[in-house]
Amino acid sequence: MRRAIYPGSFDPVTLGHLDIIKRAAAIFDELIVCVSVNSAKPSGLFSPQERVELIRAVTEDLPNVSVDCCQELVAEYAKSHRARVLVKGLRAVSDYESEIQMAMLNAKLYPKLDTVFLYTRPKYAFLSSTVVKELARYGADLSDFVPRQIIGRVRSKVTGGVPNPM
Ligand code: ADP
Repeated sequence: MRRAIYPGSFDPVTLGHLDIIKRAAAIFDELIVCVSVNSAKPSGLFSPQERVELIRAVTEDLPNVSVDCCQELVAEYAKSHRARVLVKGLRAVSDYESEIQMAMLNAKLYPKLDTVFLYTRPKYAFLSSTVVKELARYGADLSDFVPRQIIGRVRSKVTGGVPNPM
């Protein structure tokens, strides 16, 4: 059983994330999408539990994908869930530097763990959760950026305006 973990902030999940999820789910037997509570990004628009719910809503048709949340180091989470692969998406060269550093750190923490990089589809190369939040604040059409099932929730969260503590 090849089990992989796709960690990230997913605040909120975007079409770029969903593309990586679908492609990784086609490669691995099982994929755990893991909302990791990142000390470098201590607060977010959505709480970790809400992010999990949004990802579940857009992956319910993918039987080998599950969604979870972790407060610990991703390497520790992988070890305790007996996963030996992390999946990461690469958008630009600027992603590469920090992602390769993180991959080496994770391998140091858990030597059986490897990181697999999937390149972004060019149509999603500019897309990040930050871009989505900015567009939503200006009331822009989000249909090219987030899965349609969650557009309403993103819009109402942003217009509600109060960021969630983690
Ligand atoms: P961001 O807040 O920048 O969207 P995340 O921490 O949520 O970042 O991203 C989780 C993972 O998904 C990272 O490996 C990131 O490089 C990748 N990713 C984010 N957006 C995209 C995209 N548009 N295409 C491919 N990979 C992406």
